[in-house]
Amino acid sequence: MQPLSGKRGLIMGVANERSIAWGIAKAMSEAGAELAFTYQGEGFGRRVRPLVQSLGADVMVDVDVTDDASLDAAFEQLSAKWPTLDFIVHAIAFSDRDELTGRFLDTSRDNFKTSLDISCYSLIDVARRTHPMMRENGGTILTLTYQGSNRVTPFYNVMGVAKAALESTTRYLANDLGPDGIRVNAISPGPMKTLAGAVIGGARKTFRQTEENAPLRANATLEAIGGTAVYLASESGACTTGEIIRVDGGYHVLGMPQSENL
Ligand code: NAD
Repeated sequence: MQPLSGKRGLIMGVANERSIAWGIAKAMSEAGAELAFTYQGEGFGRRVRPLVQSLGADVMVDVDVTDDASLDAAFEQLSAKWPTLDFIVHAIAFSDRDELTGRFLDTSRDNFKTSLDISCYSLIDVARRTHPMMRENGGTILTLTYQGSNRVTPFYNVMGVAKAALESTTRYLANDLGPDGIRVNAISPGPMKTLAGAVIGGARKTFRQTEENAPLRANATLEAIGGTAVYLASESGACTTGEIIRVDGGYHVLGMPQSENL
């Protein structure tokens, strides 16, 4: 018996084969889950379709999480095909790349609103829309965060504030939805070479720094993040909610770089 057999889940946030959401989708599909996908506009849709088909899946809906009409249409389409869901993976974030290079102090009001709207409010919105689909049998909501939420990380800037809000949102949603048997957790990977990861200033240095100093001397992999998502969505995660689970080679325990790198 595979850990997710008989379960149906919605994956939000695949842009290409490097996306964290794609690593999670592959692991969940191998674990027996049936998956549906959202994509952001036709441009991404064209790239995502062959990936989705490679898993034998065919339910794909176009969603822009800043647009209520787009969300209404997407969830109407999805619930017409699948009236119930067992899990949601929310792997969505955005901030203006021009504000991920300079000082946090220069964050603009517009980009603050956009970053928090897309990277945090969208989780609340999606949870509100989908929890009735999970109410009968319980379910799991997963999101993706980063340690820049509670530790200053070069150039992460307003995304750090958005991730702090997202982690708090994870706890508040876990409390609201717990009585319906819905668990809400966040996975916090170390830096990954993805589209979103690449727009943060100094991304390559951050990637190398983590690899050279983490206790495991390694960066996270899509496979390890996927495996963690499978555990959280399966019966093995039945008593875990409101949690932030790190998949970062242990980097978060450090107070300083390793002695050879000082
Ligand atoms: P990615 O670029 O592959 O995925 C980001 C996704 O967000 C894309 O699919 C994009 O279409 C979607 N998105 C952005 N704005 C949207 C909107 N308005 N409506 C709908 N979708 C929208 O990058 P990724 O690194 O896989 O990012 C996934 C998640 O993982 C994000 O929350 C990110 O912050 C988080 N994360 C990334 C890293 C990293 O280093 N890459 C580390 C920790 C956490």
